[in-house]
Amino acid sequence: MSDPFVEGGLGELESPLYREALAQLDRVAEVMGLDDNIHARLRVPQRATIVSFPFRREGYYEVETVFAYRVQHVLTMGPTKGGLRYAMDVNLGEVAALAMLMTWKTSLVGLPFGGAKGGVRVDPTILTRPELQRLTRRYTAELINVIGPDRDIPAPDMGTNEQVMAWIMDTYSQHVGHAEPGVVTGKPPELGGSIARREATGRGLVSLLPAATSHVGLTLEGARVVVHGFGNVGQYTALAADELGAKVVAVSDVTGGIYNENGLDIAKAQEWVAENGNLAGFPDVDTVTNEELFELECDILVPAAVGGVITKDNADKITAKIIAEGANGPTTLEADLILKERNVFTIPDILANAGGVTVSYFEWVQDLQNYFWSEGEIVARLREIMGQAFEEVLNISITEGYDMRTAALVKGIRRVAAAKLVRGVYP
Ligand code: GLU
Repeated sequence: MSDPFVEGGLGELESPLYREALAQLDRVAEVMGLDDNIHARLRVPQRATIVSFPFRREGYYEVETVFAYRVQHVLTMGPTKGGLRYAMDVNLGEVAALAMLMTWKTSLVGLPFGGAKGGVRVDPTILTRPELQRLTRRYTAELINVIGPDRDIPAPDMGTNEQVMAWIMDTYSQHVGHAEPGVVTGKPPELGGSIARREATGRGLVSLLPAATSHVGLTLEGARVVVHGFGNVGQYTALAADELGAKVVAVSDVTGGIYNENGLDIAKAQEWVAENGNLAGFPDVDTVTNEELFELECDILVPAAVGGVITKDNADKITAKIIAEGANGPTTLEADLILKERNVFTIPDILANAGGVTVSYFEWVQDLQNYFWSEGEIVARLREIMGQAFEEVLNISITEGYDMRTAALVKGIRRVAAAKLVRGVYP
């Protein structure tokens, strides 16, 4: 197969995460016997936009140049869909890798989208609210012809939230001259945001745990759960696991982890973070570092923060029998091999965290129809889609002899390949 990249380098897409995403695609393409032409097309995003723009900091005398991206990986099955990330280490390759993951994820759960991702290279934690608002509005204006309810629909990801989505919706609507709620998902409910979107990724992940635990011969009731990350995904994963009778023994954020072998009071930890901004100082618990957290005695480990945290250096020390990936790309390829050898049952990111984009899809459908569903309907449909995807992936894994990650990718890639083949080549 011809390689579009010169001398084995990835050109402008060079980044560790893109390398991993590509290695993963190449490996799965080979085992599933993917059509060579389709494989070549899936290795690179169909559209990538890079913008730089001036950004006024507080006081109006300081103007910075900010770099930002929006990558649309596959435009074949409908508009593209994926989060928007604000972080200092954002680059084109990382955003392209995450867009590729979104393609597999949306395809795996049967949504009518291709994958996209956006990023702004900025540290959102040091920005004031007016700064964050100006930055978001300018980013939206720069991408006014790239996004849209029938083109590409952003959503929250690391460093962005409901308020950021509301500003995008407002800016886009001002530009097109009418209110357009369907341009983003993960908005506040007052603007056409879906109920239960905020909780969706965590709830969706936990909805798979009864089947996963029974598959490996555990019961969820009383199972010890460790959650790395206590942002949106981590908090609602911990809460939902606690509600189902699991014992969440440790959670962590950038300030470190908190641990109680008898189970943490998750609702209290959530309140603490809402008041204090992070977990530091949470009373009556033991503290652990983020490195120690991965080695704690537990049954289920949920990485729910940044990517690349399960590596060849700690994969051997993980005691969990199940890893459910709430984050995107938390396990390196080397670590994945070690975990496979050790028979750790992995629910891969594109399956485990697909609840977020699934409820985003519900939100987009509700916005387009101006007809809003009840929380009961949303949660029931989320469970149905997640449960069915899990069953199908497990089934492919058993009948075709793949590990769960490969099986999930095979399922996701098959649908995209079939769609590309049947559309054919124009002209
Ligand atoms: N950022 C989330 C993800 O990585 C959600 C994307 C969406 O809802 O479009 O899956």
